[in-house]
Amino acid sequence: MQVPLLDLKAQYQSIKAECLAVTEKIYESQYFILGPYVEQLEAEIAEYCSSAYAVGVSSGTDGLLLSLMAAGIGPGDRVMTTPYTFFATAGAVSRLGAIPVFADIEPETYNIAPESIEAVLAAMPAAARRSVKAIIPVHLYGQCAEMAPVLEIAEKYHLLVIEDAAQAIGSEYQGKRAGAMGDFGCFSFFPSKNLGGFGDGGIVTTNSADRYETLKILRVHGGHPKYYHSAIGGNFRLDALQAAIVSIKLKYLDQWTAARQKNAAQYKALIETAGLSHMIRIPIEKQNRHIYNQFVIQVPEKRDGLRDFLIQSGIGCEIYYPVPLHLQQCFADLGYGPGDFPVSEYAAGHTLALPVYPELSEEQIAFVVDRIKAFYG
Ligand SMILES: *Cc1c(COP(=O)(O)O)cnc(C)c1O
Repeated sequence: MQVPLLDLKAQYQSIKAECLAVTEKIYESQYFILGPYVEQLEAEIAEYCSSAYAVGVSSGTDGLLLSLMAAGIGPGDRVMTTPYTFFATAGAVSRLGAIPVFADIEPETYNIAPESIEAVLAAMPAAARRSVKAIIPVHLYGQCAEMAPVLEIAEKYHLLVIEDAAQAIGSEYQGKRAGAMGDFGCFSFFPSKNLGGFGDGGIVTTNSADRYETLKILRVHGGHPKYYHSAIGGNFRLDALQAAIVSIKLKYLDQWTAARQKNAAQYKALIETAGLSHMIRIPIEKQNRHIYNQFVIQVPEKRDGLRDFLIQSGIGCEIYYPVPLHLQQCFADLGYGPGDFPVSEYAAGHTLALPVYPELSEEQIAFVVDRIKAFYG
């Protein structure tokens, strides 16, 4: 039996007619950039995320970059975030000449730990602490970060909050949607995200009318009106084709999310009955709506061996992320070293993502658990 990590073909078959119809309409119109499909998607996403506004952008990475630019982050500023995330979170900070400052994560959820943020800020010299302008909590794997204490710390230190919600569309914390809690919420439509386009794309949410205007102006090179520039932005525009496809998929997102949650529940039940609970740790649902962009198990022993064995058995699995950002070569000049963020380093060495996409069958999930059992057998 083959169990790929992700298979988008079944999903496509279920929406193929709608996608082809809208694609043809856009081809006939020859109107490709921004425009009515993007505006429609912005209204739909704002509503879905219970945010006042949304601005379609060229990717999740560009959403982060644009939000940081709209927040006025630049050379000499510092931005706090987690080292256990996709590269773009900290990469966007560095690209603006600002300095990423890392804080460690919580061991069960892999999200940034509020106590660690406090400890890092408290240990900084006063001048450095004053240069910290923002914090980017990441809602990793589809589960919200511990936002109440994060927002409290942000208020105490006058930091803007940019939610990296690239993996967390529709995820909730205490009844609030990802992207609606901070000053900006950044989402990605990369095909492997829960709501993916047919190419790159993303969107930024905000509850502030002023920030919404700034985002829209910086999205088109800072031109306002067109060809008159009082600020320097970039080309962060979203394509009509991507917006139209994402709008179609959004109608089915809750149904697909429910299927992911059902798959996660089946994994948990089977892992328990197989007696594997002492060998592998299943994800903990600490917040109230985990959307399972990834189903990540923690494997204290022989993680790489298990990965190789599963791949040989025809099961797709992946290590997110093998090297935490504070140990990446490109960030060597930040001065971090091994041991600085032990929880992140442990996660990088001991976690494994298993297939959890909506169309997985019960037999496939049972096969994955059976092979894990065979490995540790
Ligand atoms: C995917 C992802 C991004 C980047 O999104 P792109 O659309 O690929 O640019 C940023 N942060 C996190 C946590 C992600 O998972």
